[in-house]
Amino acid sequence: AALNVLAVECVRDPASGAPRVGAVPGLPDAAYETDGQLTKRHVRAATLATLAPAPGELLWDVGGGSGSVAVEWMRAHPSCRAITIERDPVRAARIGRNADRMGVPGLHVVTGRAPGALAGLPAPDAVFVGGGLTAPGLLEACWEALPPGGRLVANTVTLESEALLTEWYRRHGGDLVRLAVSHAVPVGAFTGWRQAMPVTQWAVTR
Ligand code: SAH
Repeated sequence: AALNVLAVECVRDPASGAPRVGAVPGLPDAAYETDGQLTKRHVRAATLATLAPAPGELLWDVGGGSGSVAVEWMRAHPSCRAITIERDPVRAARIGRNADRMGVPGLHVVTGRAPGALAGLPAPDAVFVGGGLTAPGLLEACWEALPPGGRLVANTVTLESEALLTEWYRRHGGDLVRLAVSHAVPVGAFTGWRQAMPVTQWAVTR
């Protein structure tokens, strides 16, 4: 990738040396152009499994970052559709480039701040919140947009957003999970675990 500050190694294509892009979610972080605002591959794999895309379904990806969640939703089936909402125009442009290079140019990018930017969008089958959880009214707007049976998955690494998710979990149920991934790194001549920030994930069906 032209810009990818993430250090984690991955399986590479022996001929080209490029990160191996397989058929299922949890693609290598190095497959994406990113400024670091990226749901990392192990958490992303668990997130897509929980979002459970089905043919023809529409995802709202709120706080798009580098676009990886929406990209991997789109890759689930040619008829899957996604709208990613990202407030930062530089990142929004990057999402478009990632969608093109990952073979899903139909990913729709909305440059704007949620919840305001959600108004008027077609109703989703599922919503992923990867950023902006503490924005007033954001979670309410996502919840209200979901039809009965729609899925909502929200990830966070901050205590403030985790407190909010705990509140919603107590009110609506669902599944509250903490994903703590570590990677082995050199410690002098030896090897030790470097822990990534634990991700709290709330998943619920409306
Ligand atoms: N899931 C993404 C990473 C999300 S990072 C990926 O895998 O690539 C969180 C993003 O949310 C950041 O890019 C930030 O700019 C965006 N964001 C935060 N608050 C927002 C809001 N209210 N509306 C839209 N985007 C927001």
